[in-house]
Amino acid sequence: MLQSCKGLADCHTHTCYSFDSEADPAEMLARADELELFAYCVTDHCEMNSTDLASLERDMKASVRAVKQLRSSRFQDSATHFLTGLELGQGLQNRTEAERFLREIPVDFVIGSLHNLAGEEDFYYLSYTEETAAAYLERYFDELLEMAEWGGFDSLGHLTYPLRYITGIYRIRPDMTRYRYKVDAVLSALAKGDRALEVNTSGLRNEIGETLPTMEYLVRFRELGGKHITIGSDAHEAQHVGAGLEQAAKMIKKAGFPGITCYIGHKPFLIPFDK
Ligand SMILES: [Zn+2]
Ligand SMILES: [Zn+2]
Repeated sequence: MLQSCKGLADCHTHTCYSFDSEADPAEMLARADELELFAYCVTDHCEMNSTDLASLERDMKASVRAVKQLRSSRFQDSATHFLTGLELGQGLQNRTEAERFLREIPVDFVIGSLHNLAGEEDFYYLSYTEETAAAYLERYFDELLEMAEWGGFDSLGHLTYPLRYITGIYRIRPDMTRYRYKVDAVLSALAKGDRALEVNTSGLRNEIGETLPTMEYLVRFRELGGKHITIGSDAHEAQHVGAGLEQAAKMIKKAGFPGITCYIGHKPFLIPFDK
């Protein structure tokens, strides 16, 4: 597939240190280098509801070590900035350990995600009717608000994640205006904490056919004072690195943001759009 994402940043990708990817970190970095990305970040799954936190911790440390080792050897002359990160899932479902992980595994960038509600399986495994979907979404945005207020991350991952399955697979289109106040509260909490919102482009490659979240949420985030947007392909294999970045960047520009943001040492770095 033809891509023109030169100069952009892919800040959400997985490697073999995630439970659901077999990708070789070297191949992921090589693809980012080939695409001439400005920045590329590996954010392996750090699911805090895991029952085996010891092996999770080992995997996270190995992921970070792999990126550091590759960027100081094979890719030391690359124009791409290779960043370390993790996708912290369900941070508040084990807050003490999540905060310890964040202290003991220093990275450039942390995505905060909610893949499953407390006591439930990942949204991927649930089945939906219009009624259950609506009930899950209520709980989802409540838990997301608690996460946004806690703020143990830099950018909030895939805001509308449950729609990947509710709409993408079950073809149910919930009336999202029902959650308008809850979504506003989440976006306001992010803006107030100077945190970013992510545009996740994985939806463009699967059944739902749109970014998570869509343009209207970006516009609203800006209205509520949001300043930073990150983009992530959520690639789990090298061929998807950079996928959809250009389309997301166009949306972000149209929503009125001056550029896209990547994080270096948890500090926002703006990559301005060309005039
Ligand atoms: Zn995720
Ligand atoms: Zn992910």
